[in-house]
Amino acid sequence: MQVAPTTEELLAIHGRIRACVACRLHLTRTQAVPGYGPVEARIMAVGEAPGEKEDQQGRPFVGAAGKLLTELVESIGLSRRDIYITNTVRCRPPGNRDPEPDEVEACSHFLDEQIALLRPDVILILGRHALQRLLPDSAGISRLHGERVIRDDRVYVPLYHPAAALYTSSLRETLLADMRRVRGYLDEAEAMPRQREGAPEQRQPPPVDAQADQLSLFAP
Ligand code: URA
Repeated sequence: MQVAPTTEELLAIHGRIRACVACRLHLTRTQAVPGYGPVEARIMAVGEAPGEKEDQQGRPFVGAAGKLLTELVESIGLSRRDIYITNTVRCRPPGNRDPEPDEVEACSHFLDEQIALLRPDVILILGRHALQRLLPDSAGISRLHGERVIRDDRVYVPLYHPAAALYTSSLRETLLADMRRVRGYLDEAEAMPRQREGAPEQRQPPPVDAQADQLSLFAP
């Protein structure tokens, strides 16, 4: 039986991301944006890179695309507190340019560590950069969006990036429809015995100190 992940372990990864100087993006960032959400999250969402607001606030998806992400999550009866959100790269590329391959590569092990720690039931892949990083040899997002893709025992669902729907309004309906499919995948995952650490009742609540830290993950 696997041991339940702890908030301390997640915060330790966040600390290493904040201190990371492995690529040129650390030179221009205000701060790194490691990720946000509870260690128990059953859904992880992986976007592209922090933008200006995220760089200022140190949290992912706090701008307009983040607002739509919140609506999408709420459309299937969940809240942002139910999901752990992170990005393919954790420092803002200057002028919001696309991340370079070596920058994605330098940040890659952090994402692997976060996924391995949380072992989410579903990983939402937001947009083509995350798709390229997590399912490198797959078809494109226009073909795969809303589909459940299982690789190495992990369940991925590619989705259009919420920012794309800010410019193309028909994509908003597509995202909402894809989220309804995600609801179904989650329901199926919950009906299956947990693979992460045995049955849900075997999961231990985090220690009190960790609960305080965890609440701070949601501080305004
Ligand atoms: N877009 C992203 O991909 N990530 C963010 O954190 C914000 C906007």
